Amino acid sequence: MTDMGLVVVGAGGRMGRTLIRIIHETDGVTLVGAVEREGAETLGTDAGILAGLPPAGVAVTDDPLPVFARADGVLDFTSPAATLAFAEIAAQARIVHVVGTTGLSADDEAAIDAAARHAIIVKSGNMSLGVNLLAVLVRQAARALDPSFDIEILEMHHRHKVDAPSGTALLLGKAAADGREVSLAEASVRVRDGHTGPRPEGAIGFATLRGGSVAGDHSVLFAGEGETITLSHHAADRAIFARGAVKAALWARGRKPGRYSMADVLGLS
Ligand code: NAP
Repeated sequence: MTDMGLVVVGAGGRMGRTLIRIIHETDGVTLVGAVEREGAETLGTDAGILAGLPPAGVAVTDDPLPVFARADGVLDFTSPAATLAFAEIAAQARIVHVVGTTGLSADDEAAIDAAARHAIIVKSGNMSLGVNLLAVLVRQAARALDPSFDIEILEMHHRHKVDAPSGTALLLGKAAADGREVSLAEASVRVRDGHTGPRPEGAIGFATLRGGSVAGDHSVLFAGEGETITLSHHAADRAIFARGAVKAALWARGRKPGRYSMADVLGLS
């Protein structure tokens, strides 16, 4: 089979540059486009140079239409508004859309579901093997432990991150809620401040730290009477997310339109 032609949107971002680098080092995929927003400083720059590589012969553009038309897939780690716009274009072009963007609202998620009627979408709050395996373990632990074990999810990310809790923390919260057969929306406590009163039984709590250059640390605590179990993941480098995204694109190539998760890609669902 010929190489899968991939477009990176948000090419100048932290993940965008990492994706360009990982495409360069992965067999079976070729960079065919790099997109940034209108007015971005990186427009016209060679995408290889942008990622600290030799020239790739692909200039950064603000016009996704012609680029999507000649691609087999798009890798998208941008913002919720941008992702919704790209989902429509990817659906029209009938290509694979790998979405790593986090912080989408319930309405945004419904729009992604609608686009997935025509497009092949793989979306996950975390594209790494480790976190998706961790989610399986969290689901099992939550199922095995009775509600007297309090579940708390702690995460830390770099100072530039704009959404909280992280998409990964929410993914792990969902795994815990699934294990307990409760709704995360009803069980979650996302903020605590002031005189909160005692912890409600069955709550799934979130705590968020921000600082420095941390790529992503997550711990899920099961705190019982006299003992605590902690399951955790440390991302040393954001290349793990980029490798996962490329793997997702290759897995999705030629599949039926629909919405898939990273757990599907990794055979963990
Ligand atoms: P970032 O450095 O801010 O990169 C986002 C890039 O997207 C920026 O270059 C931004 O440009 C660009 N962008 C925004 N709107 C655009 C548009 N309409 N058209 C084209 N480009 C546009 O952020 P990041 O750290 O790479 O993270 C990006 C997203 O991925 C976040 O939601 C983050 O939480 C998520 N993420 C997910 C995973 C995962 O495994 N699922 C892993 C890491 C990060 P401007 O700077 O001009 O706005």
